[in-house]
Amino acid sequence: MFWCEEVAAQCHGPQIINDSKTPSGRVHVGALRGVLIHDAIFRTLRSKGIEAKYLFGVDDYDPLDEIPAGKDEHFSQYLGQPLCNVPAPDGSDATDMAEHYMGEFWGVFRELGVEVEPYRMRDIYRSGRFNNAIDTILRHADVVRRVYKEVSNSDRPPTWYPFQVVCENCGRIGTTEVFAYNDGKVSYRCREDLVKWARGCGNQGSVSPFDGRGKLPWKLEWVAKWITFPVTIEGAGKDHSTKGGSRDVASACLRAIFAKEPPANVPYEFFLVGGAKMSSSRGLGASARDMADLLPPEVLRFLMIRTKPNSPVNFDVNEDGIVKLFNEFDRYHTRVTRDKNATPDEALVYQLAETRQKGDYFLPNFQLLSTLAQMPHLDPMLEIQKRHGAPLTETECHALERRLKSAAFWVEHYAKEEEKTRLQESLPASHVTLSVTQYAFLQRLGGALANVAWEDDQLQAAVFETARLTPIDQPLAFKAIYRVLLDKDAGPKAGNLFAYLERAFLQKRFLEVPLDKAIFWKETALTQEQLVEWMVLQKPKIASYEHAIQSAECGHVLELTVTMLDGKKHMRRVWLPESVESTSVLSALV
Ligand SMILES: [Zn+2]
Repeated sequence: MFWCEEVAAQCHGPQIINDSKTPSGRVHVGALRGVLIHDAIFRTLRSKGIEAKYLFGVDDYDPLDEIPAGKDEHFSQYLGQPLCNVPAPDGSDATDMAEHYMGEFWGVFRELGVEVEPYRMRDIYRSGRFNNAIDTILRHADVVRRVYKEVSNSDRPPTWYPFQVVCENCGRIGTTEVFAYNDGKVSYRCREDLVKWARGCGNQGSVSPFDGRGKLPWKLEWVAKWITFPVTIEGAGKDHSTKGGSRDVASACLRAIFAKEPPANVPYEFFLVGGAKMSSSRGLGASARDMADLLPPEVLRFLMIRTKPNSPVNFDVNEDGIVKLFNEFDRYHTRVTRDKNATPDEALVYQLAETRQKGDYFLPNFQLLSTLAQMPHLDPMLEIQKRHGAPLTETECHALERRLKSAAFWVEHYAKEEEKTRLQESLPASHVTLSVTQYAFLQRLGGALANVAWEDDQLQAAVFETARLTPIDQPLAFKAIYRVLLDKDAGPKAGNLFAYLERAFLQKRFLEVPLDKAIFWKETALTQEQLVEWMVLQKPKIASYEHAIQSAECGHVLELTVTMLDGKKHMRRVWLPESVESTSVLSALV
């Protein structure tokens, strides 16, 4: 059973899903995993007719405990204050820091089609919605202390209370500790040395803990959310879900104080983006926003949803990684919408990835698109439309535009120099790394292209046939093509690429490589014994063959062109000793 289905199978009655984020800086790409896991569960429940809500909380009453990269000057004075009370960085239209960073994240939600009921902790606390939970928890502070000890083996002194007040003097919340709760008031002090990252003012006071004057520590805040909303499903990252970890502590507090069962957990592993380049000085690649710029929504959703939550998602943004991801998505797309041979799991993943069902539509291959996008003389949008045959639908135009954007973003921000695909204006110097047989293949291909219909499939077929007639192993043949055209080892499907280039340009390039026939023959000629052995082995598959003698200064070879029953032609060649007549070699073969 697919993982979302497993979660749904455990659900009885209406469900309330909850997730949240602390907006203490640009939201990291890793936060998308939880968002999309919960969204997949939400959609699965809805599709089964189960009533469900997806709540998403902004934990903006958390203290500022770390300054976003490069923003020391603005933020350092506010360390320890609730995020919602910290002014937004210069140039921002947002009312405060929390809104500033959440604004970008909400934008990603919209693009990904994630529809949540948002709430902000400032509103929850200030409106008094948590007053009952706060009162109950504070009256059971001894129970909380006992649970902390039993579950996570952490000692809290008898004067410790699970609450932090917003200091009436300095406005910090991260520096205060409560040491008593009597008659609806907490007694607190604002300590200089409570935490390393902020300095309290030394103020002492007694104040009501209600209506936004303070907050619960986050493990108890979890409890208050679960009991108040009330939450039935909330997944947590694996770092919180370990034995004795924060999730266990919160669950034990809920049971001990409220005698309720915690929501279903869906522990999930990290979302890793391969390569150390992610946190480079350019600061690009590490945020959720960057990932949403790089990948179209359906591909990003696909990446997150197809993997079970308890396995890490490791996405490599190198060329291989991104091409593989798009190709995988396209494979699901084709199997589900065109060939109708998808497994039930594949169909579910695809449906959850596409936020609205579009049926079958044309998706241009990403690698080809990325290559075309890097060719300055081409307008890929126009070329693809031209070659597609039928006019593109609105969905197809949109998909094409979005993929072009992905390709451009990838090239600009992620591609290493050697991964960039530049059509070479002239034969690149690195052609000298090719073997003589590869040169021979290219020359033969240059000749063969004279008579090929300029269509992807025919061009691709010509490449294969030329490889068999050289003969050369296919991977070496393709490497030769990419080397002389793109100055690299790999590229999009050759037939597709050729179709976008001029016949004369390709022929000239392939024919201009040097060729030393003597060495070529030495590299490819068989001994007579090898040739006989090959012919014997192939005999049942051979339809016909013809021969020709080629001569050069270095000697003579007999070239045998063998046509197989499947119509494919193969070439085998053998040296002719000066003294032996070709006819005698041939008779030896037959
Ligand atoms: Zn203070």
